[in-house]
Amino acid sequence: MSIVQQINCSHCGAPIAFEPGEIIATCIYCGYTVVIETGKAFTFEHSMLLNKYDPTQIEEPIRNWMQEGFLKPSDLARKSKITEKTLTYIPFWMVTTRVDTAYKGIFERITPPVVKEGHIEKEYDWLVIARKATEFPTREYEVPLEGKIPYDFRKIEAFAKTLNSEIDQDEAVEQARQEIEEQHRYLAQQDIDKIIEIKSEIKIDQTVYLHAPIWLVRYEYKGKAYQLIMDGATGTAIKGDIPSTAFGLL
Ligand SMILES: [Zn+2]
Repeated sequence: MSIVQQINCSHCGAPIAFEPGEIIATCIYCGYTVVIETGKAFTFEHSMLLNKYDPTQIEEPIRNWMQEGFLKPSDLARKSKITEKTLTYIPFWMVTTRVDTAYKGIFERITPPVVKEGHIEKEYDWLVIARKATEFPTREYEVPLEGKIPYDFRKIEAFAKTLNSEIDQDEAVEQARQEIEEQHRYLAQQDIDKIIEIKSEIKIDQTVYLHAPIWLVRYEYKGKAYQLIMDGATGTAIKGDIPSTAFGLL
């Protein structure tokens, strides 16, 4: 069980509850966002995406997801029972970057092998989840940025839960850097077989703290439990467990 602690909101005076490990918290009464350790205002851009569904309405996109695609059992939408659907505003850091990676390596797919050089130039809105123990498929989640608005606590539904941040901006940027370097190493390896040297220049243009409406759905199909993560802003499935179909072909 976690111990909830509290500080007083320096904007409206209301208590702001937070849990151990949380370092940036938002007042549920006025939307003021505070750095817990210092009690000072959070000075970065704080945005949110709006959720479009209530617990009844979200069933339609869930059933649609169950019906689409040939990998799913054909009776999935009909026979599944949705056992849980909860909306949580999950905090993310979105790191907007321009990356230029220069690499040099050995291309071994011809004889004799040759030394080859190349560049990878990319721009990203790289997403880092601001929670430590939460598993979230950030690479599968395409953030619908066109719907991004300044954070407004009045837009958070009473039935929804909001999580605070457990990692600060510096940690998020560092994590984004590491993940981007890893990704570019992978991309370079599509072009060369042995890396001699690789160097990424990563320019950070902007870092935004973002709360996104995520539905966690649990459903049962033929006596087994499965999980599905839905984007509340668009109604699209971010990632879902699919019961295996026994085709019996072999
Ligand atoms: Zn407040």
